[in-house]
Amino acid sequence: MTQGSVLLIYTGGTIGMKEDPMNQALKPFDFRGIMDEVPELRKFALTIDSYTFDPLIDSSDVEPLMWKQLALLIREKYDEYDGFVILHGTDTMAYSASALSFMLENLGKPVIFTGSQLPVGRPRTDGKENLVSSVEIATAKDSNGRPMVPEVCIFFNSKLYRGNRCTKVNATSFDAFSSPNYPALAEAGISIRYDAKRIHYPEQTAGPLAIHTELDTRVSIMKVHPGITESVARNCLLGEGIRACIIETYGSGNSISKDWFINIIREAAGKGKILLNITQCLAGEVNMDIYATGRALKDVGVISGGDMTTESALGKLFFLMGENSDNEEVKSLLSKNIRGEMSK
Ligand code: ASP
Repeated sequence: MTQGSVLLIYTGGTIGMKEDPMNQALKPFDFRGIMDEVPELRKFALTIDSYTFDPLIDSSDVEPLMWKQLALLIREKYDEYDGFVILHGTDTMAYSASALSFMLENLGKPVIFTGSQLPVGRPRTDGKENLVSSVEIATAKDSNGRPMVPEVCIFFNSKLYRGNRCTKVNATSFDAFSSPNYPALAEAGISIRYDAKRIHYPEQTAGPLAIHTELDTRVSIMKVHPGITESVARNCLLGEGIRACIIETYGSGNSISKDWFINIIREAAGKGKILLNITQCLAGEVNMDIYATGRALKDVGVISGGDMTTESALGKLFFLMGENSDNEEVKSLLSKNIRGEMSK
């Protein structure tokens, strides 16, 4: 008899890549023989099944359609498994984990994203440790038999983070992810230490898992920078088909105070566009009341994104806009904490 069950969902990414003998570039390969690649998994008394996406992709090619497929797959297999581990490239893992956190409502089981910086076939790979610990976390139960971490998470380099708080911060180190505004939910050492007070558990009254797969992707991201031109700002804010813009500002939400810039923001707000202020800083939060340059944005209707990451803000906008055709409704929901993605 096994002590739990997990579905490994392989989407692609470095963890399962091999070198193309022609040019030595890394390409995804069929990972169905995962137990042969990582025999350590056999040591668990667990049922471990796998599902491989077709085609396998480098996560730079991830599109919202894949998030929809993941949400549908998790719903279909939800009752069969204790938890889910999603093997995913690191480049867009924080985007995918953020989006899934919004798409899966009333989640009561762990959905753990992981991957690696070195392919699992390489001697110094970080992939085995990441995968083996993720499987353990996905099937871990507390003393009442409840799943330890019923959240969408990223496990990387010994740390378990809330997925919608993460960002990829290092292209080469094994310590590739950070959750700058929310502490780790667990840390893997000799044993895996969970910080239960940081983990979100569904309310007793929560209904069954509900998935949301209607995503509206008409969002632009404008990173404010010295020298940004009027036409660039105009395209980002007023370009055809744009319903919302994430304005990546300086520091605590400050931006250019010149009339031409504020006038474009005012024009976009006047057209009902959803304008969300996210700081370019890795940590900390937007507060548009501190400086006049932030206040000017608030006065024309820009909404504070608090301490959300850009990845999370994007997933939240896709989800809220997919669910609501009224921009005013989206604006009011944006500043509410829905899945633990913001602190206030
Ligand atoms: N380019 C790869 C990907 O995101 C990088 C990785 O997996 O670490 O799929």
